Amino acid sequence: MDRLNQAVVFLGPPGAGKGTQAKELAKKYGVPHLSTGDMLRECIAKGTALGLQAKPIMERGELVPDSLVLKMVKQRIENADCSFGFVFDGFPRTVAQAQYFGELLKRCGYTQPVVVHFAIDPALVLKRITGRRMCKVSGEIYNIFERPTKVPGRCDNDGGDLEQRPDDREEIVAPRLAAYAKQTAPLVAYYRRLGRLHDVDAAQSVEEVSRKVLEIVRAPR
Ligand code: AMP
Repeated sequence: MDRLNQAVVFLGPPGAGKGTQAKELAKKYGVPHLSTGDMLRECIAKGTALGLQAKPIMERGELVPDSLVLKMVKQRIENADCSFGFVFDGFPRTVAQAQYFGELLKRCGYTQPVVVHFAIDPALVLKRITGRRMCKVSGEIYNIFERPTKVPGRCDNDGGDLEQRPDDREEIVAPRLAAYAKQTAPLVAYYRRLGRLHDVDAAQSVEEVSRKVLEIVRAPR
């Protein structure tokens, strides 16, 4: 198996397909797929102190404070399983997070991340998010419009119940997209300036996007 040996970041609005692609790429290279959203949802499910703090913020579609997210990320990437690279989706989400992340990576012996920017029309994003369903058992992601299951409401892999994430309801999507535009979109310019940004047209099919992602990750640098 090829080694990834770098930090890869998938940047883009919610619903752009980052999670699906990050999972696939991480599997291909045998490295961890890290999602701060998943980590926070796990904290909520376990009822930890961090989960209790994050829950109302996530339910409003706002970003959790940098200090909480950064502490969680630091602990995670210092783990031995991150020694051969890892794929992040949904982090960093603010310029302050990106700056801290850069320092953290340097300390762990990595360069700045390879950043794949998922560019997509906001109207398409809305359809993708409101149609998204997740398997309660495996976390596999489906879409009632674009990737339906064979049996409605049941995961194709394990038959698990599908559910809609509470923050994927239409009324929460608008604040999430606003948070992206205001706090996260500036990272596009930030990483472009560092020469680390690679654009992908995220409106293409899952297969086309994966092909492009692999091309970017495998390019010599
Ligand atoms: P996601 O699953 O990436 O869409 O994240 C779901 C929610 O978790 C977001 O709307 C935020 O409230 C919170 N969240 C996830 N990642 C971050 C992050 N890096 N910084 C701040 N909040 C985050």
